[in-house]
Amino acid sequence: MVRTAGHVPDYAVLGSLEYAVSVLHVPLIAVLGHDHCGAVTAAQHAIETGVAPPGHIRDLVERITPSVLASANAAQQDIHAVVVEHVKQTVHRLLDNSRVIFDAVDNYSTAVVGLAYRLDEGRVQLVSTAGVL
Ligand SMILES: [Zn+2]
Repeated sequence: MVRTAGHVPDYAVLGSLEYAVSVLHVPLIAVLGHDHCGAVTAAQHAIETGVAPPGHIRDLVERITPSVLASANAAQQDIHAVVVEHVKQTVHRLLDNSRVIFDAVDNYSTAVVGLAYRLDEGRVQLVSTAGVL
């Protein structure tokens, strides 16, 4: 379990996942986003107001901003749609930013799935996959 606000994959997260994949031979990475996400809401709010949050919260918001902008371009303003987009982009980022994860997916030893958790319904929706399941 590697847990960050807004499932933002920084270098410590990538290192933890690479260890899981290459040393522990974990066969599946699941990116689990959720609706009512405070981090995604903060990024949406920063874009709407033009005001960046202070400190390292700003770093989180900056890493989530591309997902909010992609959702806005598709006229998907509700928070769940933004969360779904952000889960998809996070799955892509894991593969783009980690050669170890990319190679593990490429040689079928690991797959990556993106999941969006609807808290009110208690259900998880599969929104993205990379590799063979
Ligand atoms: Zn959250």
